[in-house]
Amino acid sequence: KPVVALIGRPNVGKSTLFNQFTKSRQALVADLAGLTRDRQYGDVFFENKSFIVIDTGGIGEADDGKGNIDDYMATQSYTAIHEADMVVFVVDARAGLTPSDEEIAKFLHTLGKPVFLVTNKTDGVHEASIAEFFGLGFGEPIPTSASHGKGVTSLLEIITADMPETLAENPETDGLKLAIIGRPNVGKSTLVNRLLGEERVVVFDMPGTTRDSIYIPFEREGRQYTLIDTAGVRRRGRIGEKVEKFSVIKTLQAIKDANVVVLVIDAHEGIVDQDLHMLGYALDAGRAIVIAINKWDNLSQDQKDIVKIEMDRRFHFIPWVKIHLISALYGNGVGNLYPSIHKAYDASMFKVSTSRLTQILQDAVEAHQPPMVGGRRIKLRYAHLGGHNPPVIVIHGNQTSSLPKSYQRYLENVYRDVFKLEGTPLHVEFKQNA
Ligand code: GDP
Repeated sequence: KPVVALIGRPNVGKSTLFNQFTKSRQALVADLAGLTRDRQYGDVFFENKSFIVIDTGGIGEADDGKGNIDDYMATQSYTAIHEADMVVFVVDARAGLTPSDEEIAKFLHTLGKPVFLVTNKTDGVHEASIAEFFGLGFGEPIPTSASHGKGVTSLLEIITADMPETLAENPETDGLKLAIIGRPNVGKSTLVNRLLGEERVVVFDMPGTTRDSIYIPFEREGRQYTLIDTAGVRRRGRIGEKVEKFSVIKTLQAIKDANVVVLVIDAHEGIVDQDLHMLGYALDAGRAIVIAINKWDNLSQDQKDIVKIEMDRRFHFIPWVKIHLISALYGNGVGNLYPSIHKAYDASMFKVSTSRLTQILQDAVEAHQPPMVGGRRIKLRYAHLGGHNPPVIVIHGNQTSSLPKSYQRYLENVYRDVFKLEGTPLHVEFKQNA
């Protein structure tokens, strides 16, 4: 999938464009406390094309207006550019050409990647002031007014023009698709080798693909799996050799292709922001999740206590995720991952009738009435299952758009409890009946 980076000074409208591109639905976990995430990566579907967009907004806010963008370039946005196949360079038509724009342009010219110059905020701006951007050397600027949604379709047409049409996305795979994700050096490769090295595991020949992650089909105790290995272990006999380097996009792709994600965290390092970002990606994608705190060997009791306190603090908002303390190196606790993986998978795929869901809804409403809005009580009528992996429960009623978040969460928890949905996100959606 092509990757497009949105680059530009702060406040030129990158995030607005990003939202227009991804038409991002309100993020499910956005209001959960304790989860710091960058919202930089989005999927864009436009006609029969699709690509990944990286928003560098909110990062590198160090522009001093005088063209000194060293700090800017030192930040993640800089790394984002290197992951990208092409760049959408956004400038502010109202502000006119600034020295920082010129600096960024100079840098972009050194990259040798296609650059699309977008003059944003063009509404009510004189043609002449747009013309000055022509001098940046990226050809005719593409005018948009992102906050009004103007010019966005034309822009998408232009940037997708040379992209291939999207084919069937996921590789043909059998059984449960299991992605092993985590920061570099947390022990992913070691875990992959451990999982595949077990006596009871039969690893099948891997097709010689050059995909980002390596897809490894295997069988264990009569069950089929495909392991999605983001660390890039390629089996040579029993010794795995790491062949690929870390990339966020690879991780995102693996999450998307997976049924269950195992997030590996290094106990020696503690739980760091990047771990939480990855958790956020998996939650956003609605994937079933198991957390493996690795390198639990050779920790002092004090260190163990500290990590446990941190776990309570950082993961309190996802009490339904099973956390394992393991040593991939020595194998301790690794076998116990499987039951949790299956539980999470089964929960993510669970089936239930409309009548049962509706019955539970009615009981929940009886136990705790929804509030009144404008003198009328919100009515919730029935519920049905709208999807799997993640499970989606759709609740129909009147004035559901006025339903407070706290009540939505109450219902989610009721369903979670009744069905013992361990290990999977649960999406509860509301439909307003006319
Ligand atoms: P990856 O980058 O996530 O694939 O990490 P690796 O699997 O390459 O592991 C990074 C380093 O951590 C290596 O030196 C491993 O030997 C070490 N390591 C991995 N798992 C464990 C573990 O459970 N305990 C200890 N003590 N070291 C580990």
